[in-house]
Amino acid sequence: MNIVEKNLSEAPEKEFRNDVSNDDAKQALRLLLKWIGENPEREGLKETPKRVLKAYREWFAGYNQNPGDILSKTFEEVEGYREMITLKDVTFQSFCEHHFAPIIGKVHIGYIPNNKVVGLSKLARLIEMFARRLQVQEKMTAEIGNTLQTHLDCLGVGVVVEAEHHCMCSRGIKKQGAVMKTMHFTGIILNDFEKKNEFMRSIS
Ligand SMILES: [Zn+2]
Repeated sequence: MNIVEKNLSEAPEKEFRNDVSNDDAKQALRLLLKWIGENPEREGLKETPKRVLKAYREWFAGYNQNPGDILSKTFEEVEGYREMITLKDVTFQSFCEHHFAPIIGKVHIGYIPNNKVVGLSKLARLIEMFARRLQVQEKMTAEIGNTLQTHLDCLGVGVVVEAEHHCMCSRGIKKQGAVMKTMHFTGIILNDFEKKNEFMRSIS
């Protein structure tokens, strides 16, 4: 387990802020089990609603987090470092908001600091926060980029997301192996062709 994974696995599981009781949520899951033709009372399924709630607390933990907390600690003693910082191949798992099906892929992220930098694991945490919500890949890509730009007040951000959508590979048109690629740029990575190239080269 590397440092980034270790930090993420230590994230506390919180209750969601809503007015739906755990019992109501479990009841809804029992109803879905019935709807697919199952018997929610049989041995193997009895504890399933409880286990699903536990899993959902983890898969959707992003609703309980905010970027201000994740990116609050920055470092300014970097000797005026002003070049691009990139982190590539950060794996993520999310769920598409249209079908509740998994989206599994990688995020590549880069930014050009304006005096302050952020710890590497915080970039991974930011990605996790947005991935652990129901998502649309285009939206997640822009959210990661815009949040980093706003909170770090950096000179530019680049985000590329590559992912497989299970709503497309296991149902509907059933195209396996198709990878969707989205990208979002801000500041000089958006406006300076050379900088955009540098970013794309460093993550390729
Ligand atoms: Zn979908």
